[in-house]
Amino acid sequence: MSKKFIRQKEQREKRRVARERVETLFTLAERVFPYEPELANRYVEIALAVQQKAKIRMPRKWKRRYCKRCHSFLVPGKNARVRLKSRPYPHVVVKCLNCGHIMRYPYLREKKERRAGKV
Ligand SMILES: [Zn+2]
Repeated sequence: MSKKFIRQKEQREKRRVARERVETLFTLAERVFPYEPELANRYVEIALAVQQKAKIRMPRKWKRRYCKRCHSFLVPGKNARVRLKSRPYPHVVVKCLNCGHIMRYPYLREKKERRAGKV
């Protein structure tokens, strides 16, 4: 085995571990949010640090569950307002009620992906 190949293998393994950690941290955040929202936010911070360090993509499942500005864990109906808008293009508007930051996500793509069973 070449050194390069071993290095690539290590990289893959690191990213796999990082993905698992991100998943665990967000799952924990969701669980503790109802009674300890501050702890949930802390988990988000750690998950973001792990994600950035390993240079992995944020899993689709959790991508919209935190505020891009203040990094709060977001729960629709609790600390996030979610609205569907059709103009100028179909999109979802998520507003963080902690800092007021507004995030927009195109909706058509999401619908297509959901139909394909990806979401
Ligand atoms: Zn925010």
